[in-house]
Amino acid sequence: MRKLIQTINPDKKYQNYLTKWESYIKGVTHYSKRVDVAKEKWASRRQTKTLKHVCLKLEEMCSGNRRCCYCEDSVADEVEHIKPKSLFPELTFTWSNYLYACGSCNINKNNKYALFIAGVLTSIISSTVPPNPGHDVFINPRQDDPMSFLDLDLGQTIEDGTFWYLPKHGLSPRGIDYQRADYTINTLGLNRDFLVEGRRNAALDFKARLYEYRQEKPNLSPQKLAQFQQDFQQHTYPSVWAHMKAQHQSIPVLNNFFQQFPEIHSW
Ligand SMILES: [Zn+2]
Repeated sequence: MRKLIQTINPDKKYQNYLTKWESYIKGVTHYSKRVDVAKEKWASRRQTKTLKHVCLKLEEMCSGNRRCCYCEDSVADEVEHIKPKSLFPELTFTWSNYLYACGSCNINKNNKYALFIAGVLTSIISSTVPPNPGHDVFINPRQDDPMSFLDLDLGQTIEDGTFWYLPKHGLSPRGIDYQRADYTINTLGLNRDFLVEGRRNAALDFKARLYEYRQEKPNLSPQKLAQFQQDFQQHTYPSVWAHMKAQHQSIPVLNNFFQQFPEIHSW
């Protein structure tokens, strides 16, 4: 999971529809009625040109071939409400509350949401009254940088990594950032077996490409150089490469590559 590009927005015409629909839902006074109206309007507007346009714009934030913005593995085909519409109905048509996710991540997250209320992690359960004010626990990749909260275990050589996401080294288990990391990993199931395996394969692929780059560098044409760079930047698992870059100094084999070829820092 990585922070998503913030400069992508719907075209004005469609944003105007979203704003209008958002205002309509905010205008429903009673909370439980607001939840019902939001669900009904969402169901009836999913096939509109506006929501189809939203999907195209969300697709621009995805890595690889439209991969899920949470797991980076499976195809993204569902508009995910980061703050669930069943708890925050007024955000049902809010652009900044959307990302493109796969069905598995969407099912895992479902309506789960938690807030720090008076400093205590509190699960928010659907009720007839709006949630009490609090700070979000779930790491929101539209606004937070997951790299600030999560470490990816790459081991000492890549081959010996577990490829599990863990709360970032050094965070105190009682601290808010550690709890946010832990909650997000568990809520999305980021350490599911096939995701771990996918991240391992990606890291080994990045490493093999670095060896290939070293071998070919002396005779590399500008086109081939651009191809190498593009392969890294458009890979399905951008966060694996981001963690390899962030941790290269503690992994000797990677450190050698980064010292020898400083240009790869910007890949
Ligand atoms: Zn996913």
